[in-house]
Amino acid sequence: SYRKGGYHAVRIADNFSAGRYIAQKKLGWGQFSTVWLAYDTQSSKYVALKIQKSAPQFAQAAMHEIEILSAIAAGDPLNSKSVVRLEDSFKHAGPNGQHLCMALEFLGDSLLRLIKYNRYKGLELHRVKEMSRCILTALDYLHRELRIIHTDLKPENILLCSTINPSKDPIRSDFTPILERPEGNTNEGVSVMSKIERRLKQRAKRAVARISERRIGIGDGMGRTPKAPRNLDGIDFTCKVVDFGNACWADTPIADEIQTRQYRAPEVILQSGYSFAADMWSFACTAFELATGEMMFAPKNGQGFSEDEDHLAMMMELLGKMPRKIATTGARSKEYFDRYGDLKRIRRLKYGSLDRLLVDKYKFSDADARELASFLCPILDFDPEKRPTAEQCLQHPWLIADSQTSEV
Ligand code: ATP
Ligand code: MG
Ligand code: MG
Repeated sequence: SYRKGGYHAVRIADNFSAGRYIAQKKLGWGQFSTVWLAYDTQSSKYVALKIQKSAPQFAQAAMHEIEILSAIAAGDPLNSKSVVRLEDSFKHAGPNGQHLCMALEFLGDSLLRLIKYNRYKGLELHRVKEMSRCILTALDYLHRELRIIHTDLKPENILLCSTINPSKDPIRSDFTPILERPEGNTNEGVSVMSKIERRLKQRAKRAVARISERRIGIGDGMGRTPKAPRNLDGIDFTCKVVDFGNACWADTPIADEIQTRQYRAPEVILQSGYSFAADMWSFACTAFELATGEMMFAPKNGQGFSEDEDHLAMMMELLGKMPRKIATTGARSKEYFDRYGDLKRIRRLKYGSLDRLLVDKYKFSDADARELASFLCPILDFDPEKRPTAEQCLQHPWLIADSQTSEV
């Protein structure tokens, strides 16, 4: 992908935006971009520099993301709404073309990594509550104030907040071999140069390690997974919603098929039209996953049925039968349901309930299971019109009641 129209290759200490930003280390990548930790010489802070692929369709997507992120930043001057802040955007010319770049507030590891590091066991409920409050604060802001649908809410797209500004020892733009090249004495030749290179490499490694240590996260920031789960006590559990590449204004839906499979709402599968409530469904799936360590729905296709039909069957087994009116009125309803509202190919469903699942499979106490289910079940209503809004969820006793008392 590092070719014309694709990613821009970055080396440590590369400059962006006329020297304002200095690349420190790679943080991640996606289908559209690579993301680098960069030092902002103007504000003396770190930013996450998202460098988009250069081909027109990627530039278009970046412009859309910048438009959405700009509206988000403009409406939240105090940066208190648990959504990633866009600090700056600019173009960068490289050998593969013109790349749109976004300087984003620097955040920590994703909640997906947090779940992984915790060995897919689920997090303590008081932490789940704290993160749920953050995510709902973001959704309430996006939905009610801006009328934006995120459309791809999931643990991977929620990042922990960094509370420490790791700005003590950034790699500067003078970080070049030239400075340490020996004068004269040319007969030492190659071996001296390779020694210097080795030393420089070590220096870069140390600098990166210093930065990584200060990054709030669970891994060592070098892409290695710790052998034992880390003690998470020191971590601030606030988090922010990121990745607005697929977000849209509620009055101009982007696509018929939105959301990542496991977090996809029933109205999206059935193509009955979607709105803010589709994000709420994804939120409930995400909260369940934080609490249990496992995805709520992980459908697979099988003999004679599709992934979609398996997904619908799983939803009904956990949440009860879908009301006939909801099941039969989507543009794609006829592919899955007969006119009585029964699935065409998966006939015998094993009905259960969320609180039984939490007790039997995930070993929750009866009280914890009941309370979590009472919070999640209304958000998992098959009728999107009946789902509570983010604002209403924030008022639910599960989030309001003293979070200490429900802990064992
Ligand atoms: P996708 O294929 O998921 O749409 P993308 O190209 O749009 O990918 P993002 O998902 O925005 O890119 O970012 C890619 C990765 O970079 C993230 O998964 C995360 O690891 C890292 N990242 C993104 N934004 C930040 C940030 N603000 N702070 C720290 N790391 C970030
Ligand atoms: Mg992403
Ligand atoms: Mg994206």
